[in-house]
Amino acid sequence: MNGEFRSVRLSKCSVGIEEKEAVCRVLDNEYLGMGREVQLFEQELKEYLATDLEVICVNTGTAALHLAVACLDLKEGDEVLVPSITYVASFQAISATGAKPVACDVDDETVFIDLKDAEKRITAKTKAIMPVHYGSSASRINEVYQLATKYNLRVIEDAAQSFGGNRDGAKVGAVGDIICFSLDGIKNITSGEGGVIVTGDAALAQRIRDARLLGVEKDTEKRYQGARSWVFDVKYQGFRYHMSDLMAAIGRVQLKKISVFAEKRKHIVQSYLEGLKGNPLVSPLAMDFQSIVPHLFALKVTSGSRETLADHLGKRGVATGAHYFPNHLLSLFKTEYSLPTAERLGASLLTLPLHVDLTDDDVQYVISCFSYHR
Ligand SMILES: *Cc1c(COP(=O)(O)O)cnc(C)c1O
Repeated sequence: MNGEFRSVRLSKCSVGIEEKEAVCRVLDNEYLGMGREVQLFEQELKEYLATDLEVICVNTGTAALHLAVACLDLKEGDEVLVPSITYVASFQAISATGAKPVACDVDDETVFIDLKDAEKRITAKTKAIMPVHYGSSASRINEVYQLATKYNLRVIEDAAQSFGGNRDGAKVGAVGDIICFSLDGIKNITSGEGGVIVTGDAALAQRIRDARLLGVEKDTEKRYQGARSWVFDVKYQGFRYHMSDLMAAIGRVQLKKISVFAEKRKHIVQSYLEGLKGNPLVSPLAMDFQSIVPHLFALKVTSGSRETLADHLGKRGVATGAHYFPNHLLSLFKTEYSLPTAERLGASLLTLPLHVDLTDDDVQYVISCFSYHR
C-alpha cells in the first residue's frame, strides 16, 4: 500500500451553495415554521414520485413511522411484524403507540424480512407489517402485499433508505399502502432532518396532516394560506412533528440533485463490486444495485471476524459500520425465541463508506485496504 493513508468517512451529507442560499432566503422571511416552502416541497415530491398518493412532510423519518402506526389507531396489545435487522427507529416507532413490534427473521441474501418466518408469527392481534428496505432494496415487496391481503394487514413500508429507487418500473413510494421516507442528514437526499409519509388512504392522510400539528383540525390548510387556527377542535392525540420551511428549503434543492446523487451512488457501488469480486474475506448481498439508489453498502464478512476486518480498515483511515445490531437482542425488545439469520448477519455485516462526495481514488483506496494477509 506504499504507506498511503486516507481518511474516508462512512457517510455524510452533500450540500452546496444552493442549499445555503435557500436557507438564507427562508431566514430573511423571518418565518421559519411550516408554510409555503413545505407546501411546495410536498407538491414537488408528489411530482417526482409521479404518484396519485398524498405526500406529507414531517420532521424525521422516525416521526413518519410513528405517525403512520399511531394514526392507524394501533394500541396496547396490537402487533406489528418487523424485521429484526433495522435501525431501532422502526421498533421504537411501533412501541411508542403501545403496540408490540414482533421481531422477524431476515433473508440471508438481501436482509429483507423473511416472509415465511413473518407468516408464522401472525396472530389474531397482528394488525400491520413494517417491511424495511434494507440497503434501499425492496425486491420482494410484492410478496409483502400478498401476505397483507391474505391476513388483512396494513403495510407500513420503512423506505427510509430507498428514496429515489425503483420498484416495478415506478418510483418507490408511487404505489402502496403507507410508505415512509427519511430525509435525515445521511440519507439519499436530506432536508437537514426530515421525513415523508405517502399514502393513498385519504382519511388516514388527513388524520396524519392534523396529527403532525398537535391534532389541530385542518391546521395544515391554514398554515399553507399563511394563517393560523385560533378556534379549533382536537379529536385525536397529536404530536409536534411538522416539517419547517427551513428544512423544506434544503429538501427542495436536494430533490433537484437526486438523479446526480443516484448515479454517483450506483457508480461507487459498482466500483466496490468490481474491486472486491472474488475477495476471500467478504461477499456482497444479492441486490439489483442498478434499480435502487444505494443508501448503504453492506458486505457479509465470510472469513474471519468482522471486528478484525473493521479494525484493520479503521487503522488505515477507513470508517466502517455495522448495520444493524439485531433489535430482538435489545433489552426493551428481547424475544424468547431466537432468529438465527438475523443473529448471524447482525454479527457479520460490515458497511463500507458510501456518500456522493467519495472520489474514485477514495473508493480504490478502500478496495486496496482489503488486500492483506491476516
Ligand atoms: C434512517 C432510518 C430511520 C429513521 O429516520 P430518521 O429520519 O433518522 O428518524 C428509520 N428506519 C431506517 C431503516 C433508517 O435507515
